[in-house]
Formats: sequence, structure tokens, C-alpha cells
Amino acid sequence: MTSQSSDLELTIGPHTFVVDSDPAVSLSLASDGRDGDSDLRSLRIRVRHDLPESLWRETLLHEVVHMCLGLTHLSPRLSEEEEEDLVRAITPYLAMVLDDVAAARRPKL
Ligand SMILES: [Zn+2]
Repeated sequence: MTSQSSDLELTIGPHTFVVDSDPAVSLSLASDGRDGDSDLRSLRIRVRHDLPESLWRETLLHEVVHMCLGLTHLSPRLSEEEEEDLVRAITPYLAMVLDDVAAARRPKL
């Protein structure tokens, strides 16, 4: 991992994650054949900077879901493959509903 500075931070529970996304990150991730990665111990998420915007956002959400799982009791129960399957299954549906949920207001009675 690189130690690039970033203006983007995301708060997940009590933790603030730094999101790194720049050409150096892109090069590093590309050499591993990945679009993104994340690390709970360093509270960092990396996403390739050269992705199309929609794919960049989906990759960021994918890594956020990994970090959410990592903060739960479920993480030790899942193999890496099972976690990846779960994240890949959930993330597209979350992406589709995220903006609507953020804008939703409880109906007035
Ligand atoms: Zn993944």
C-alpha cells in the first residue's frame, strides 16, 4: 500500500477511513490485477483512479461493504472466498438503492 494523502474520508461506525485514489494507486492495484482493496487495520481504502466514474463508485462501495463485514462478528466465520461472494452479491443491489434510501423520509402519519 502507498501512503498517499487523500481528501476523501468515509466514516463507518466509529472509524474514519481514508480513501486513496490517484495514478500511483492505480498502478499499484493494476499490478495486482485489482480495481480496489481495503484494510481494516490501517483504515484505508484504495480504488483505481482510472476507472469510469460508475465503476469507481461501485468499487468504492464494494470495499466499504468489505469493511462493514470486517467490523461485524460475521467476518471470522467467512473464508476469503465466501466473503468475496457475499460482497459481490450484495453490492450491486446496495448501489441501486443507496441514493433513494439516503433521500427517503419517514411517511408522516
Ligand atoms: Zn472484494
